Amino acid sequence: ENLFSIKEWGDGYFTVNKKGHIAVCPKGNCSPDIDLIDVINELQASHSNIFPIAIRFTDILRNQTQRLRKSFQETIRASQYQGKYFGVYPIKVNQLCGVVEEIANAKCQMGLEAGSKAELLAILSTSTTENTVTILNGYKNEDYMKMAFIGSRLKDNLTVVIEKLSEIHLFLKLAREHTAIPSLGVRVKLTTESSGKWRDSSGFNSKFGLVTSEILMLIDLLREEQLLHKLKLIHFHLGSQIPNIHTLKESIIEGARVYSHLKKLCPQLEYINTGGGLGIDYDGSATASNSSRNYKLKEYTDNIVQGIMQICDEENVAHPHIITENGRALTAHHSCIVTNIVNQIQTDLNFDLSIEEEENALLQNIRDVLTNIKQNYRVQLLHDATNLYQHSLQAFKMGILSITERAKIEVIYLKILQEVSLQNALQKANKNLPLYLSSHYICNFSVFQSVIDHWAIEQLIPIVPIQRLQERPTNYSMLADITCDSDGKIKKYVTKNSNKNHIPLHDITNKEKYLLGIFLTGAYQDVMGDNHNLLGRINQVYISHDETAEKNFRIDRYVKGSSVKDLLKVMHYDTKSLRQKLCEKISQKYRDSSHLQDYLNFCSTYLEDSTYI
Ligand code: PLP
Repeated sequence: ENLFSIKEWGDGYFTVNKKGHIAVCPKGNCSPDIDLIDVINELQASHSNIFPIAIRFTDILRNQTQRLRKSFQETIRASQYQGKYFGVYPIKVNQLCGVVEEIANAKCQMGLEAGSKAELLAILSTSTTENTVTILNGYKNEDYMKMAFIGSRLKDNLTVVIEKLSEIHLFLKLAREHTAIPSLGVRVKLTTESSGKWRDSSGFNSKFGLVTSEILMLIDLLREEQLLHKLKLIHFHLGSQIPNIHTLKESIIEGARVYSHLKKLCPQLEYINTGGGLGIDYDGSATASNSSRNYKLKEYTDNIVQGIMQICDEENVAHPHIITENGRALTAHHSCIVTNIVNQIQTDLNFDLSIEEEENALLQNIRDVLTNIKQNYRVQLLHDATNLYQHSLQAFKMGILSITERAKIEVIYLKILQEVSLQNALQKANKNLPLYLSSHYICNFSVFQSVIDHWAIEQLIPIVPIQRLQERPTNYSMLADITCDSDGKIKKYVTKNSNKNHIPLHDITNKEKYLLGIFLTGAYQDVMGDNHNLLGRINQVYISHDETAEKNFRIDRYVKGSSVKDLLKVMHYDTKSLRQKLCEKISQKYRDSSHLQDYLNFCSTYLEDSTYI
C-alpha cells in the first residue's frame, strides 16, 4: 500500500483491506467498504470477457461534488463573505450521461457548462436543480448562439461567456431578433501565468479571453445597444491541474481587481467565475510537480473566497457570488480501469553456451566475469562486463564476431545482470534496471484509448495490482498495451521507489488471476481516448454503494464496449457488405473443406466480438 502511495492519491476513496485487496470507500472516509475483487467476481459471474473494464463508483462523484460545495460554504461562513457559491460542472471533462446526471443530481445546486454545440444540447436536456448557473463557453457560431438564446428560458441564469470580442456582434444581432436574451459574461485574459502541463491556458498568449482594452470596448458596445445590464459575470481560467497555490493566489488578486473596476462601470455585474484548475495528487507527492499539487481543497477554497473578499473590500465593492468550473476534481477518482495481463515478454536465457575451440577473447573474458561475479559480487566486475558487452557489439559490426558468439555474449551479460540483481545490488546502488532485464507484461488495454494523457503529455497515473498488497512486490516490471505501437506503454510509474521507470509487481505464477488497476481515470481519460489500432471503447460498469447488499454494492448498469464491427463502421466500412464479401470469398476458397461452416460462423462472431483480447 505504502509503496504505491495509495493513501496519498486515494484521498480517502481507496485503501487496502485485510485480504490485501484494493477496497473502495465511496464516502471518502478511508473505511474499506467495497472489495474490488468482489466486484470483479460478481461481474465475471454474469458476463464473459469483462477485461478491460472501467468501473465507475457513482457515489464518489456525488461525494466529491458535496465536498467541494461544503468547503466553499464553510469558508464563506467562516469569513463572513457576503456572496454565495455556485458550482458549475464543465461536461467536457467527462460527458458520459451517467456522470453528468449524477453530478447534476448531487443536491448541491450544481450547474453545467458547455463548450461546444453538442455539449450545449446535452446540458439543456439534463435536469438541474433550481437556482443554478449555466455557463456557455467555447467557440460559438450562429447555431450555437441561437440555441443559447432558446435555452435562456430553459435554464436558470444561462450565461453566454464572450471569449473573443468578435462574438459580441453575433450576440447583439440575435438580441435584436429575439425577445428572450441570455445573460452575458466576459472571459478576461489575465497576465498571471500558471505552471504545469496546462499552463498555456493562462497568460497573455492564451487562446481565449479579452485583454483589458477589448473588455472596455465590449462595455461600450453593450451600452450603445442598451444591453449593459446583461453583463453579469467575469470569468478567467488558469488552466487545468494548477500545481502551485501561489499562481492561484495571484490570479485571484488580479481577477478580483478587474472585477472591482468593472463593477464600477457595470452595476449589474454580480458573479466572478474563477474557472477550473483544482488539481489532483496523481503521484501522491503533494508537491507542485506536474502530476500533483501543493495544496488541498480547503486551501483552494480559502484562497478564492478570502482573496476576492480582500480586494473587493479594499475597492469598496460588494462581494460577488463565486462560481467555479471544477471538472477534474469532481470526476477523477470515480472511475478506474481493471485489466488483466495477457502475456509476458522476457528474454529466454536458455541458450547453449558451450565452449568452442578458438573462441573470441571477448567471449572468454565475459565467461570469466560470470564465474567470478557468482562467487563474489563487486561493482568493478559489473563494469568489466558492461565494457566487454559494448566492445562485443562493436566487434560484431566490424565483422570480427560471429552471430553465435554475439548471442552467447548477450546471454552471458544478461545472466551477469540477473546475478547482480539477485544479490539486490542494483537496487541498493539505487540504479535503474536495464530495460532488457525487467519483465515486460502485456496488458489488455490501449494507452491511446484509456490513458491518453500519459502518452500525450506524460501525465502520471497510478497503476497498482489490485490483490496481494499485503506482500511486498519484488519484481521490477514494465507494462505495455496491446496496440502494435511501440509508444503503447507506460513509461513512468507512481511508486515510492526511487526507480520510477518500473512498476514493482509480485512474482506472477498465475497471470490470469493477477489484475491491475489503473486509477484516477475519471477526468478526461475516460472520454478523450482515441481508437488507435481500432481498439475501441472498453466495457463499463456503474456501481453503487448498498449497505443492504451482502458485499456492500450493487451493479446498476453494465455497458458493453465496442465490437470489431462498431470500429469498422467508424472507419466507414459498410459492415454488411464486408461480411457478405468475406463469406463469399471464404465459401469459394474453402468449398471443399470440412471446416467451411466453422469458418463462416467464426467470421460472424469475430465481427460481433470485443476489439480487446
Ligand atoms: N473551465 C474551462 C474554461 C476550462 O478550459 C477547463 C479545462 O481546462 C475547465 C473549466 C475544467 O478544469 P478542471 O478540469 O481543471 O477543473
